[in-house]
Amino acid sequence: MDNSIFNPTQQEQDISSKIVAGLERISEVFKVLLWEKAKLVGLSPIQIQILIFIAFHKRELCNVSHLAKEFNVTKPTISDAIRALNRKGMISKDFSSSDNRSYTLQLTESGKKMVTQTNDFAMPLKKQIDNFNESELTGLLNTLSNLIYKLNYNGVLTVQRTCYGCKYYQKNKETNYCNLLQKILMTTEIRLDCPEYEEKANG
Ligand code: SF4
Repeated sequence: MDNSIFNPTQQEQDISSKIVAGLERISEVFKVLLWEKAKLVGLSPIQIQILIFIAFHKRELCNVSHLAKEFNVTKPTISDAIRALNRKGMISKDFSSSDNRSYTLQLTESGKKMVTQTNDFAMPLKKQIDNFNESELTGLLNTLSNLIYKLNYNGVLTVQRTCYGCKYYQKNKETNYCNLLQKILMTTEIRLDCPEYEEKANG
């Protein structure tokens, strides 16, 4: 127990423990900010997350199975949230795919309006990050993209859409290359949520 990441004495001896404790603290920011917004607009945090996700992602990802993976909750939890959003007239179900038991989700006009009221919930965090200088930002992005990829590769994070796990990504010596966009990717151009992402065969 002495060497627990959450033991402050251990943190003094091990920088990785300190960083993990810091990341845990930052994860609280999302909970707090989402709850503030949720109270304001009368939706639950997961309902807000679903609306924002649908607004900015391709249709193939806007279904119960994927949303459950995306937000690490059960399918019944997503189904409940969808039922509530449907009742409130913010989303509609599209059954036109080949398998007519499954459906994709779309925003209604009122859903789109709600997205404009809620999608700035993380702004207080962005404002702080904007104050970092360019090399700090580049370093942070580099660390985050690598961490997300490795956590996904090791089965901890269910979903990721970074270049490193994409079938179009190629490492040429020290440079990153996208075979779809046919260009070298600078560190700042590595994407964390690429619309064209396709998972590479071996993760
Ligand atoms: S398609 Fe997107 S995720 Fe894949 S390598 Fe290119 S930029 Fe990165």
